[in-house]
Amino acid sequence: MEHNRSSQLFQQAKRSIPGGVNSPVRAFRSVGADPLFIKRASNSHIYDADGNCFIDFVGSWGPMIVGHCHPQVIQAIKQALENGSSFGAPTELETTLAEMVISAVPSIEMVRMVSSGTEATMSAIRLARGYTGRDKIIKFSGCYHGHADSLLVKAGSGAATFGVPDSPGVPADVAKHTLTAEYNSLNSVRTLIAENSGQIACIIVEPVAGNMGTVPPREGFLEGLRDICTNEGIILIFDEVMSGFRVAYGGAQEVYGITPDMTTLGKIIGGGLPVGAFGGKREIMEKLSPSGGVYQAGTLSGNPLAMSAGIATLNLLKQPGFYQSLEEKSRKVAEGIAAAAKKAGYPIYSTRVGSMFCAFFSASEVHDWTSAAACDTAAFAKYFMAMLNEGIYLAPSQYETAFVSAAHSDSDIDLTIAAAEKSFKLIA
Ligand code: PMP
Repeated sequence: MEHNRSSQLFQQAKRSIPGGVNSPVRAFRSVGADPLFIKRASNSHIYDADGNCFIDFVGSWGPMIVGHCHPQVIQAIKQALENGSSFGAPTELETTLAEMVISAVPSIEMVRMVSSGTEATMSAIRLARGYTGRDKIIKFSGCYHGHADSLLVKAGSGAATFGVPDSPGVPADVAKHTLTAEYNSLNSVRTLIAENSGQIACIIVEPVAGNMGTVPPREGFLEGLRDICTNEGIILIFDEVMSGFRVAYGGAQEVYGITPDMTTLGKIIGGGLPVGAFGGKREIMEKLSPSGGVYQAGTLSGNPLAMSAGIATLNLLKQPGFYQSLEEKSRKVAEGIAAAAKKAGYPIYSTRVGSMFCAFFSASEVHDWTSAAACDTAAFAKYFMAMLNEGIYLAPSQYETAFVSAAHSDSDIDLTIAAAEKSFKLIA
Protein backbone atom coordinates (compact mmCIF):
# COMPACT_ATOMS: atom_id res chain seq x y z
CA MET A 1 0.00 0.00 0.00
CA GLU A 2 1.51 3.33 -1.10
CA HIS A 3 1.35 6.37 1.17
CA ASN A 4 3.61 8.65 -0.90
CA ARG A 5 1.11 11.45 -1.41
CA SER A 6 0.10 11.46 2.28
CA SER A 7 3.77 11.60 3.33
CA GLN A 8 4.41 14.44 0.89
CA LEU A 9 1.40 16.38 2.21
CA PHE A 10 2.56 15.77 5.78
CA GLN A 11 6.04 17.18 5.04
CA GLN A 12 4.39 20.24 3.52
CA ALA A 13 1.93 20.63 6.41
CA LYS A 14 4.73 20.48 8.99
CA ARG A 15 6.20 23.67 7.56
CA SER A 16 3.08 25.71 8.30
CA ILE A 17 1.16 23.80 11.03
CA PRO A 18 2.82 22.72 14.32
CA GLY A 19 3.48 18.99 13.98
CA GLY A 20 1.60 19.09 10.68
CA VAL A 21 -1.79 18.60 12.37
CA ASN A 22 -4.52 20.61 14.03
CA SER A 23 -5.05 18.07 16.85
CA PRO A 24 -2.09 16.06 18.22
CA VAL A 25 -3.28 12.44 18.09
CA ARG A 26 -3.87 12.76 14.34
CA ALA A 27 -0.10 12.81 13.78
CA PHE A 28 0.24 8.99 14.28
CA ARG A 29 3.24 9.67 16.59
CA SER A 30 2.56 6.81 18.97
CA VAL A 31 2.44 4.28 16.12
CA GLY A 32 5.63 5.64 14.57
CA ALA A 33 4.22 6.38 11.12
CA ASP A 34 3.21 9.36 9.03
CA PRO A 35 -0.51 10.13 9.18
CA LEU A 36 -2.81 9.50 6.25
CA PHE A 37 -4.19 12.61 4.64
CA ILE A 38 -7.86 12.08 3.94
CA LYS A 39 -9.56 13.16 0.78
CA ARG A 40 -13.10 11.98 1.28
CA ALA A 41 -15.34 9.51 3.08
CA SER A 42 -18.62 7.79 2.37
CA ASN A 43 -20.73 5.49 4.58
CA SER A 44 -18.27 3.26 6.46
CA HIS A 45 -15.33 4.01 4.18
CA ILE A 46 -12.60 6.61 4.22
CA TYR A 47 -10.26 7.38 1.29
CA ASP A 48 -6.76 8.82 1.57
CA ALA A 49 -4.82 11.12 -0.75
CA ASP A 50 -3.12 8.12 -2.44
CA GLY A 51 -6.51 6.66 -3.35
CA ASN A 52 -6.41 3.89 -0.70
CA CYS A 53 -9.75 2.89 0.80
CA PHE A 54 -10.25 1.87 4.45
CA ILE A 55 -13.08 0.65 6.64
CA ASP A 56 -13.27 3.48 9.16
CA PHE A 57 -13.57 2.83 12.91
CA VAL A 58 -12.58 6.37 13.91
CA GLY A 59 -15.67 8.09 12.53
CA SER A 60 -14.13 11.53 13.12
CA TRP A 61 -13.58 10.40 16.75
CA GLY A 62 -17.24 9.65 17.35
CA PRO A 63 -19.64 11.98 15.57
CA MET A 64 -20.27 9.87 12.45
CA ILE A 65 -22.68 7.37 14.03
CA VAL A 66 -24.88 7.22 10.91
CA GLY A 67 -21.82 6.92 8.63
CA HIS A 68 -20.14 9.52 6.46
CA CYS A 69 -22.19 11.67 4.08
CA HIS A 70 -25.59 10.36 5.07
CA PRO A 71 -27.95 11.81 2.43
CA GLN A 72 -30.40 13.18 5.02
CA VAL A 73 -27.63 14.97 6.91
CA ILE A 74 -26.15 16.39 3.71
CA GLN A 75 -29.58 17.56 2.60
CA ALA A 76 -30.21 19.31 5.92
CA ILE A 77 -26.84 21.09 5.79
CA LYS A 78 -27.33 22.16 2.16
CA GLN A 79 -30.75 23.55 2.91
CA ALA A 80 -29.46 25.49 5.92
CA LEU A 81 -26.48 26.80 3.98
CA GLU A 82 -28.68 28.27 1.30
CA ASN A 83 -30.37 30.39 3.96
CA GLY A 84 -27.09 31.71 5.35
CA SER A 85 -24.35 30.05 7.38
CA SER A 86 -24.38 32.23 10.48
CA PHE A 87 -26.35 35.17 11.82
CA GLY A 88 -25.25 35.57 15.43
CA ALA A 89 -28.94 35.88 16.26
CA PRO A 90 -31.43 33.33 17.60
CA THR A 91 -32.99 30.85 15.20
CA GLU A 92 -35.83 28.34 15.56
CA LEU A 93 -33.35 25.54 14.77
CA GLU A 94 -31.61 26.09 18.12
CA THR A 95 -34.82 25.57 20.07
CA THR A 96 -35.65 22.50 17.99
CA LEU A 97 -32.32 20.85 18.81
CA ALA A 98 -32.52 21.99 22.46
CA GLU A 99 -35.97 20.37 22.78
CA MET A 100 -34.70 17.16 21.16
CA VAL A 101 -31.78 17.02 23.60
CA ILE A 102 -34.03 17.72 26.60
CA SER A 103 -36.47 14.99 25.65
CA ALA A 104 -33.63 12.53 25.01
CA VAL A 105 -31.29 13.02 27.97
CA PRO A 106 -32.93 12.30 31.36
CA SER A 107 -30.97 14.88 33.41
CA ILE A 108 -31.26 17.83 31.03
CA GLU A 109 -34.02 20.38 31.68
CA MET A 110 -32.26 23.27 29.93
CA VAL A 111 -29.32 23.27 27.55
CA ARG A 112 -26.89 25.73 25.99
CA MET A 113 -25.12 25.08 22.67
CA VAL A 114 -21.42 25.77 22.16
CA SER A 115 -19.01 24.82 19.38
CA SER A 116 -16.84 22.05 20.89
CA GLY A 117 -16.70 19.51 23.69
CA THR A 118 -13.94 21.54 25.33
CA GLU A 119 -16.19 24.58 25.56
CA ALA A 120 -18.97 22.42 26.96
CA THR A 121 -16.92 20.99 29.85
CA MET A 122 -15.10 24.25 30.53
CA SER A 123 -18.41 26.13 30.75
CA ALA A 124 -20.11 23.41 32.81
CA ILE A 125 -17.32 23.64 35.37
CA ARG A 126 -17.53 27.42 35.52
CA LEU A 127 -21.26 27.12 36.11
CA ALA A 128 -20.80 24.46 38.80
CA ARG A 129 -18.30 26.74 40.53
CA GLY A 130 -20.56 29.76 40.17
CA TYR A 131 -23.55 27.83 41.48
CA THR A 132 -21.81 26.28 44.50
CA GLY A 133 -19.40 29.12 45.27
CA ARG A 134 -16.61 26.52 45.57
CA ASP A 135 -13.36 26.33 43.57
CA LYS A 136 -12.12 22.74 43.65
CA ILE A 137 -13.11 20.03 41.21
CA ILE A 138 -12.54 16.30 41.07
CA LYS A 139 -11.74 14.50 37.85
CA PHE A 140 -10.46 10.99 37.19
CA SER A 141 -7.05 9.93 36.02
CA GLY A 142 -7.23 8.90 32.34
CA CYS A 143 -10.50 10.73 31.67
CA TYR A 144 -10.26 13.46 29.04
CA HIS A 145 -12.60 16.41 29.07
CA GLY A 146 -11.05 18.65 26.43
CA HIS A 147 -8.08 20.95 26.72
CA ALA A 148 -9.22 23.70 29.11
CA ASP A 149 -6.50 24.55 31.68
CA SER A 150 -8.21 23.07 34.71
CA LEU A 151 -8.96 19.82 32.87
CA LEU A 152 -5.52 19.10 31.46
CA VAL A 153 -4.50 17.37 34.65
CA LYS A 154 -3.89 13.61 34.39
CA ALA A 155 -5.95 13.61 31.20
CA GLY A 156 -6.48 10.76 28.72
CA SER A 157 -6.65 10.67 24.91
CA GLY A 158 -3.90 12.66 23.15
CA ALA A 159 -2.64 13.92 26.51
CA ALA A 160 -2.07 10.32 27.62
CA THR A 161 -0.73 9.24 24.25
CA PHE A 162 1.88 11.96 24.36
CA GLY A 163 2.78 11.42 28.00
CA VAL A 164 2.14 15.02 29.00
CA PRO A 165 -0.77 14.72 31.39
CA ASP A 166 0.25 18.02 32.92
CA SER A 167 0.83 20.37 30.01
CA PRO A 168 3.32 23.22 30.19
CA GLY A 169 1.35 26.45 30.11
CA VAL A 170 -1.19 25.37 32.70
CA PRO A 171 -0.50 27.62 35.72
CA ALA A 172 0.10 25.71 38.95
CA ASP A 173 -2.35 28.13 40.55
CA VAL A 174 -5.05 26.81 38.22
CA ALA A 175 -4.10 23.12 38.34
CA LYS A 176 -4.07 23.09 42.14
CA HIS A 177 -7.87 23.33 42.15
CA THR A 178 -8.13 20.09 40.16
CA LEU A 179 -8.02 16.96 42.31
CA THR A 180 -7.58 13.59 40.66
CA ALA A 181 -9.22 10.35 41.74
CA GLU A 182 -8.89 6.83 40.30
CA TYR A 183 -11.57 5.69 37.87
CA ASN A 184 -13.81 3.00 39.35
CA SER A 185 -12.56 3.72 42.86
CA LEU A 186 -15.10 5.33 45.19
CA ASN A 187 -12.57 5.17 48.00
CA SER A 188 -10.19 7.47 46.13
CA VAL A 189 -13.07 9.95 45.81
CA ARG A 190 -14.02 9.67 49.47
CA THR A 191 -10.43 10.36 50.51
CA LEU A 192 -10.25 13.54 48.42
CA ILE A 193 -13.57 14.76 49.77
CA ALA A 194 -12.55 14.10 53.37
CA GLU A 195 -9.38 16.14 52.79
CA ASN A 196 -11.26 19.01 51.11
CA SER A 197 -14.51 19.08 52.98
CA GLY A 198 -17.00 21.71 51.75
CA GLN A 199 -14.63 22.91 49.02
CA ILE A 200 -15.54 20.71 46.05
CA ALA A 201 -17.77 22.30 43.39
CA CYS A 202 -18.15 19.31 41.12
CA ILE A 203 -17.09 15.84 40.13
CA ILE A 204 -16.70 15.44 36.38
CA VAL A 205 -16.61 11.93 34.99
CA GLU A 206 -16.89 10.08 31.69
CA PRO A 207 -19.68 7.64 32.69
CA VAL A 208 -18.15 5.27 30.15
CA ALA A 209 -14.48 6.20 29.89
CA GLY A 210 -13.46 6.42 26.25
CA ASN A 211 -10.18 8.31 26.39
CA MET A 212 -7.95 5.67 27.98
CA GLY A 213 -9.29 3.07 25.58
CA THR A 214 -12.84 1.99 26.50
CA VAL A 215 -13.28 1.43 30.24
CA PRO A 216 -16.80 0.67 31.46
CA PRO A 217 -17.89 1.82 34.90
CA ARG A 218 -17.88 -0.99 37.44
CA GLU A 219 -21.18 -1.90 39.03
CA GLY A 220 -21.97 0.62 41.74
CA PHE A 221 -19.38 3.22 40.69
CA LEU A 222 -21.78 5.74 39.14
CA GLU A 223 -24.40 5.11 41.84
CA GLY A 224 -21.74 5.74 44.47
CA LEU A 225 -20.73 9.02 42.84
CA ARG A 226 -24.38 10.06 42.75
CA ASP A 227 -24.80 9.34 46.48
CA ILE A 228 -21.58 11.12 47.46
CA CYS A 229 -22.51 14.21 45.43
CA THR A 230 -26.03 14.34 46.84
CA ASN A 231 -24.74 14.06 50.40
CA GLU A 232 -21.98 16.64 49.97
CA GLY A 233 -23.84 19.23 47.85
CA ILE A 234 -21.42 18.57 44.98
CA ILE A 235 -22.56 18.93 41.35
CA LEU A 236 -22.21 15.64 39.48
CA ILE A 237 -21.26 16.25 35.84
CA PHE A 238 -21.44 13.41 33.36
CA ASP A 239 -19.20 14.21 30.43
CA GLU A 240 -21.16 12.52 27.68
CA VAL A 241 -19.38 14.26 24.80
CA MET A 242 -18.47 10.77 23.59
CA SER A 243 -21.11 8.51 25.14
CA GLY A 244 -24.08 10.85 24.56
CA PHE A 245 -26.42 9.54 21.81
CA ARG A 246 -23.73 6.85 21.31
CA VAL A 247 -24.31 4.11 23.90
CA ALA A 248 -28.07 4.85 23.83
CA TYR A 249 -30.28 7.72 22.64
CA GLY A 250 -30.27 9.04 26.22
CA GLY A 251 -26.56 8.34 26.69
CA ALA A 252 -24.84 6.43 29.49
CA GLN A 253 -27.23 7.95 32.06
CA GLU A 254 -30.05 6.10 30.34
CA VAL A 255 -28.08 2.83 30.20
CA TYR A 256 -27.01 2.90 33.87
CA GLY A 257 -30.08 4.69 35.24
CA ILE A 258 -28.10 7.38 37.08
CA THR A 259 -29.14 11.03 36.83
CA PRO A 260 -26.30 13.55 37.06
CA ASP A 261 -26.92 17.25 37.88
CA MET A 262 -25.29 18.38 34.65
CA THR A 263 -24.32 16.75 31.36
CA THR A 264 -21.91 17.79 28.63
CA LEU A 265 -22.44 16.75 25.02
CA GLY A 266 -20.67 17.15 21.67
CA LYS A 267 -19.67 15.00 18.70
CA ILE A 268 -22.93 13.24 17.61
CA ILE A 269 -25.25 16.18 18.33
CA GLY A 270 -23.36 18.15 15.67
CA GLY A 271 -23.69 15.44 13.02
CA GLY A 272 -20.04 16.03 12.01
CA LEU A 273 -20.09 19.83 12.36
CA PRO A 274 -18.46 21.67 15.27
CA VAL A 275 -20.84 21.46 18.25
CA GLY A 276 -20.90 20.99 21.98
CA ALA A 277 -23.61 21.51 24.58
CA PHE A 278 -24.03 21.54 28.32
CA GLY A 279 -27.24 21.17 30.21
CA GLY A 280 -28.81 20.09 33.43
CA LYS A 281 -31.19 21.08 36.16
CA ARG A 282 -33.15 24.25 35.46
CA GLU A 283 -32.14 25.69 38.81
CA ILE A 284 -28.46 25.43 37.87
CA MET A 285 -28.78 26.39 34.21
CA GLU A 286 -30.70 29.56 35.04
CA LYS A 287 -27.56 30.88 36.77
CA LEU A 288 -26.08 31.26 33.28
CA SER A 289 -25.88 34.67 31.62
CA PRO A 290 -28.10 36.48 30.63
CA SER A 291 -30.65 34.90 33.01
CA GLY A 292 -27.95 34.64 35.71
CA GLY A 293 -24.50 35.98 36.41
CA VAL A 294 -22.19 33.19 35.20
CA TYR A 295 -20.79 34.37 31.89
CA GLN A 296 -20.51 32.18 28.80
CA ALA A 297 -20.85 33.09 25.10
CA GLY A 298 -19.88 32.21 21.51
CA THR A 299 -19.93 33.93 18.08
CA LEU A 300 -20.84 30.71 16.27
CA SER A 301 -22.75 29.00 19.11
CA GLY A 302 -25.93 27.38 17.82
CA ASN A 303 -25.04 28.17 14.23
CA PRO A 304 -27.65 26.97 11.72
CA LEU A 305 -25.44 24.50 9.82
CA ALA A 306 -24.43 22.62 12.96
CA MET A 307 -27.97 22.72 14.37
CA SER A 308 -29.39 21.33 11.12
CA ALA A 309 -26.80 18.55 10.93
CA GLY A 310 -27.54 17.68 14.56
CA ILE A 311 -31.31 17.64 14.10
CA ALA A 312 -31.02 15.43 11.01
CA THR A 313 -28.69 13.02 12.81
CA LEU A 314 -30.88 12.75 15.90
CA ASN A 315 -33.91 12.11 13.70
CA LEU A 316 -32.07 9.15 12.18
CA LEU A 317 -31.15 7.82 15.63
CA LYS A 318 -34.80 7.93 16.69
CA GLN A 319 -35.79 5.40 14.05
CA PRO A 320 -37.05 2.17 15.63
CA GLY A 321 -34.37 -0.48 16.01
CA PHE A 322 -31.44 1.87 15.36
CA TYR A 323 -29.54 1.12 18.57
CA GLN A 324 -30.46 -2.57 18.53
CA SER A 325 -28.94 -3.01 15.10
CA LEU A 326 -25.86 -0.96 16.04
CA GLU A 327 -25.42 -3.06 19.19
CA GLU A 328 -25.55 -6.27 17.17
CA LYS A 329 -22.92 -5.05 14.66
CA SER A 330 -20.71 -3.81 17.49
CA ARG A 331 -20.95 -7.05 19.44
CA LYS A 332 -20.03 -9.01 16.32
CA VAL A 333 -16.97 -6.97 15.46
CA ALA A 334 -15.63 -6.63 19.02
CA GLU A 335 -16.14 -10.33 19.80
CA GLY A 336 -14.68 -11.23 16.39
CA ILE A 337 -11.50 -9.26 17.10
CA ALA A 338 -11.19 -10.78 20.58
CA ALA A 339 -11.64 -14.26 19.10
CA ALA A 340 -9.02 -13.54 16.44
CA ALA A 341 -6.52 -12.59 19.15
CA LYS A 342 -7.30 -15.74 21.10
CA LYS A 343 -6.91 -17.90 18.00
CA ALA A 344 -3.46 -16.42 17.42
CA GLY A 345 -2.60 -17.05 21.08
CA TYR A 346 -2.24 -13.34 21.62
CA PRO A 347 -3.39 -11.93 24.97
CA ILE A 348 -5.75 -8.97 24.76
CA TYR A 349 -8.36 -7.60 27.14
CA SER A 350 -11.47 -6.70 25.18
CA THR A 351 -14.02 -4.11 26.31
CA ARG A 352 -17.22 -2.79 24.78
CA VAL A 353 -20.18 -0.64 25.71
CA GLY A 354 -22.66 -0.33 22.83
CA SER A 355 -20.79 0.81 19.74
CA MET A 356 -17.65 1.85 21.66
CA PHE A 357 -15.01 -0.86 21.91
CA CYS A 358 -11.34 -1.42 22.54
CA ALA A 359 -8.71 -4.15 22.38
CA PHE A 360 -6.27 -3.52 25.23
CA PHE A 361 -2.86 -5.07 24.72
CA SER A 362 -2.89 -6.49 28.20
CA ALA A 363 -3.37 -9.98 29.61
CA SER A 364 -5.12 -8.62 32.70
CA GLU A 365 -8.25 -6.60 33.37
CA VAL A 366 -8.22 -2.87 32.56
CA HIS A 367 -10.44 -0.83 34.86
CA ASP A 368 -8.56 2.43 35.50
CA TRP A 369 -5.63 4.47 34.22
CA THR A 370 -3.00 2.47 36.13
CA SER A 371 -4.11 -0.79 34.51
CA ALA A 372 -4.53 0.91 31.11
CA ALA A 373 -1.07 2.46 31.28
CA ALA A 374 0.42 -1.03 31.75
CA CYS A 375 -0.61 -2.03 28.19
CA ASP A 376 1.99 -3.05 25.62
CA THR A 377 1.78 0.04 23.40
CA ALA A 378 4.60 -1.16 21.13
CA ALA A 379 2.56 -4.28 20.31
CA PHE A 380 -0.49 -2.09 19.75
CA ALA A 381 1.51 -0.01 17.25
CA LYS A 382 2.41 -3.16 15.28
CA TYR A 383 -1.22 -4.29 15.31
CA PHE A 384 -2.36 -0.84 14.18
CA MET A 385 0.05 -0.86 11.20
CA ALA A 386 -0.90 -4.44 10.27
CA MET A 387 -4.61 -3.53 10.34
CA LEU A 388 -3.96 -0.39 8.28
CA ASN A 389 -2.20 -2.49 5.66
CA GLU A 390 -5.28 -4.71 5.57
CA GLY A 391 -7.50 -1.69 4.91
CA ILE A 392 -8.79 -1.11 8.45
CA TYR A 393 -8.53 2.42 9.82
CA LEU A 394 -8.34 2.36 13.64
CA ALA A 395 -7.47 5.20 15.98
CA PRO A 396 -3.67 5.48 16.04
CA SER A 397 -3.29 4.99 19.79
CA GLN A 398 -3.98 2.35 22.41
CA TYR A 399 -5.72 5.02 24.48
CA GLU A 400 -8.65 5.64 22.17
CA THR A 401 -11.99 4.00 21.48
CA ALA A 402 -13.14 2.36 18.25
CA PHE A 403 -16.55 3.49 17.00
CA VAL A 404 -19.00 1.42 14.99
CA SER A 405 -21.53 3.22 12.80
CA ALA A 406 -24.87 2.20 11.34
CA ALA A 407 -23.14 2.26 7.94
CA HIS A 408 -20.84 -0.68 8.77
CA SER A 409 -22.11 -3.62 6.73
CA ASP A 410 -21.89 -7.34 7.46
CA SER A 411 -19.16 -7.56 4.88
CA ASP A 412 -17.23 -4.69 6.55
CA ILE A 413 -17.38 -6.62 9.80
CA ASP A 414 -16.29 -9.90 8.22
CA LEU A 415 -13.39 -8.14 6.49
CA THR A 416 -12.36 -6.48 9.76
CA ILE A 417 -12.35 -9.77 11.65
CA ALA A 418 -10.37 -11.48 8.85
CA ALA A 419 -7.87 -8.59 8.95
CA ALA A 420 -7.55 -8.96 12.73
CA GLU A 421 -6.87 -12.70 12.37
CA LYS A 422 -4.03 -11.96 9.96
CA SER A 423 -2.70 -9.07 12.04
CA PHE A 424 -2.58 -10.93 15.37
CA LYS A 425 -0.88 -13.88 13.66
CA LEU A 426 1.69 -11.49 12.23
CA ILE A 427 2.56 -9.89 15.55
CA ALA A 428 2.21 -12.97 17.80
N1 PMP B 1 -15.01 15.23 26.61
C1 PMP B 1 -14.88 13.98 26.12
C2 PMP B 1 -15.41 12.82 26.90
C3 PMP B 1 -14.25 13.81 24.89
O1 PMP B 1 -14.12 12.56 24.41
C4 PMP B 1 -13.78 14.92 24.17
C5 PMP B 1 -13.09 14.79 22.83
N2 PMP B 1 -12.70 13.57 22.43
C6 PMP B 1 -13.95 16.19 24.74
C7 PMP B 1 -14.58 16.30 25.96
C8 PMP B 1 -13.47 17.42 24.03
O2 PMP B 1 -14.22 17.66 22.89
P1 PMP B 1 -13.63 18.56 21.70
O3 PMP B 1 -12.49 17.78 21.13
O4 PMP B 1 -14.78 18.72 20.78
O5 PMP B 1 -13.20 19.85 22.30
